[in-house]
Amino acid sequence: MINHKKTHGLWADTAQPGPNLTSVDGDQKAEIAIVGGGYTGLSAALHLAEAGTDVILLEAEHIGYGGAGRNVGFVNAGLWLKPDDVVNRMGEKYGEQLLEVLGASPNLVFQLIEKHNIQCEAVRNGTLHCAHSPSGFKELQQREAQWHRRGAPVKLLSREEAAARIGSDSFHGALFDERAGTIQPLSFVYGLARAAQDSGARLHAPSPVTELKREAGLWRLDTPTGRITAKTVIQATLGYPSFAFQDRNKEMIPFNYFQFATEPLPEDTLKTVLPGREGALDTNPILSSFRLDQAGRLMVGSVGQVEKMGYAVHENWARRTIRKVFPQADSVPLSYAWNGRIAMTPDHIPRFHMSKENMISVTSYNGRGIGPGTMFGKLLAQLVLGASIDTIPLPVTRPKGILTRNFRGLFYETGARMYHFVQRRV
Ligand SMILES: Cc1cc2nc3c(=O)[nH]c(=O)nc-3n(C[C@H](O)[C@H](O)[C@H](O)COP(=O)(O)OP(=O)(O)OC[C@H]3O[C@@H](n4cnc5c(N)ncnc54)[C@H](O)[C@@H]3O)c2cc1C
Repeated sequence: MINHKKTHGLWADTAQPGPNLTSVDGDQKAEIAIVGGGYTGLSAALHLAEAGTDVILLEAEHIGYGGAGRNVGFVNAGLWLKPDDVVNRMGEKYGEQLLEVLGASPNLVFQLIEKHNIQCEAVRNGTLHCAHSPSGFKELQQREAQWHRRGAPVKLLSREEAAARIGSDSFHGALFDERAGTIQPLSFVYGLARAAQDSGARLHAPSPVTELKREAGLWRLDTPTGRITAKTVIQATLGYPSFAFQDRNKEMIPFNYFQFATEPLPEDTLKTVLPGREGALDTNPILSSFRLDQAGRLMVGSVGQVEKMGYAVHENWARRTIRKVFPQADSVPLSYAWNGRIAMTPDHIPRFHMSKENMISVTSYNGRGIGPGTMFGKLLAQLVLGASIDTIPLPVTRPKGILTRNFRGLFYETGARMYHFVQRRV
């Protein structure tokens, strides 16, 4: 029986224990208030607390409730876009700076894991970007050339080399990126929370910020059980803004991604499915991802949601995909299904907002938020502590609604369902 009702699927069952938090009680003051208990908020809280700053973090539900507790767990070195596309869309200055900063973000994630002894199934064996077609292989050749121009350690693998690494002959080659790795994403965010607490940050959950107001030159953040007064606010609500931040939904396209996980594969099968434990994703515009967890469960994911009517179509697709791509694992039952909402922008570039009243946020990582969220949390902390704004590799923009967002969201969901209905039938 597939347990698909839980919002955080497999990760909820296999995560290390989370921190024990309570709601805000009464009136409190802090120098800096952070809203949102995902990677961005907790990395900011950790780096601020380590610098001796008085910081409070408020999370509406529980740590890792948003994308941080639901994602695939790929710690990628960069955005989903090709490097040259990032530069074309942002210009040379910001584009190259963003590529460099995000290219270094897996280092930060794995350093924090080591420094704070975070038990989160961390494996740094790289990712395989797998060509789903001959044109997908051409795209990987372009990616390789563009990364090599920037000195990044990526390597194109032939069809045969890729088949041996993936354990499947379904692909036309692959691009190996040794900077990347995989983690148990919910355990990582729990670990960040513990490290932030140990460094002196005050974390509260459930404490939804229901109202945010300026009062006597300070911010007042109301929650159902108490209120915080702070000089500066870091808003880190990303794909799950609620209550006082609901209007931020308007600046992203609703885009869901689901995952199915099998029971642990038998030992001899495990030797033939991603034997090097790399994360794998393909070049298909309706992307698929594949990975193993520590217990040897195979996870397959793609675009769409499994909470509602799309469940049967996507489940059927997941079963067919395993049969075609990893026939050796076909008989292993599926035991989890879950999905999450990705914060997507029309140009696939994150946004940086900053008001003159000391409210700052970086948002919309477009499905690449483990490295970027952890990195931007640190950069925002440093900015608040006095670093130059030039250290943020994004231009300051004003929040802007996307008029066609609901239509686009529906388009992606319907398109993914139709595609999954027909893909890999023969
Ligand atoms: C299905 C899926 C797969 C993904 N796969 C990957 C991947 O493999 N690799 C990768 O790098 N990225 C991936 N991502 C993206 C990544 O998960 C996000 O970019 C990342 O979680 C962003 O972290 P965050 O801290 O900015 O936001 P979130 O993790 O979304 O946290 C925001 C938090 O803010 C809280 N909040 C909202 N409103 C309020 C309020 N009013 N008061 C208090 N708290 C509030 C929410 O409850 C939430 O916990 C994926 C995302 C999804 C959904």
